[in-house]
Amino acid sequence: MADVMTPEQRSRCMAAIRSKDTKPEMLVRKFLFSKGLRYRVNNRKLPGSPDIVLKKYRTVVFIDGCFWHGHEGCKYYRLPKTNEDFWRHKIAMNIARDYASTVDLRLAGWRVIRVWECDVMTKAKREESLQRLYAAIVGNTGKSTLYEDSSDTMLMVAEPYASYARNIHNKI
Ligand SMILES: [Zn+2]
Repeated sequence: MADVMTPEQRSRCMAAIRSKDTKPEMLVRKFLFSKGLRYRVNNRKLPGSPDIVLKKYRTVVFIDGCFWHGHEGCKYYRLPKTNEDFWRHKIAMNIARDYASTVDLRLAGWRVIRVWECDVMTKAKREESLQRLYAAIVGNTGKSTLYEDSSDTMLMVAEPYASYARNIHNKI
């Protein structure tokens, strides 16, 4: 499909898509609520404004859009043919910011769970992904799980941005 939008138009369009209370976030929230979890949303006082904050579990959850957060190899992450460099740069900046806020949150003692949008939006994966997310939240917080990277991994700074992205997202 031809890319007919100017960068400005596309930017406005994408900004609208990115607005809070997007569908994947709502799906996750509703699910967690139905499981009896209580949380705060879009907490701007914490690094990166986490989508969901579960204070009781000292856990924050981000639901990252595959385009904006650069989900490598994902069908939802396709750079527009026009102004490809512009988009590549913009998304690299987002990835760097995600990395920084993940590190800051972890240093402040939060457990950070970053979920890709496609794990929630793809119907075939949704139920299992949500169940795993719930298990990760309520699981033994003292124990290292599949959903946590070690701080050592997080603090390796010699990696390119793309590697950060792979390191900070949780496979669910
Ligand atoms: Zn994806």
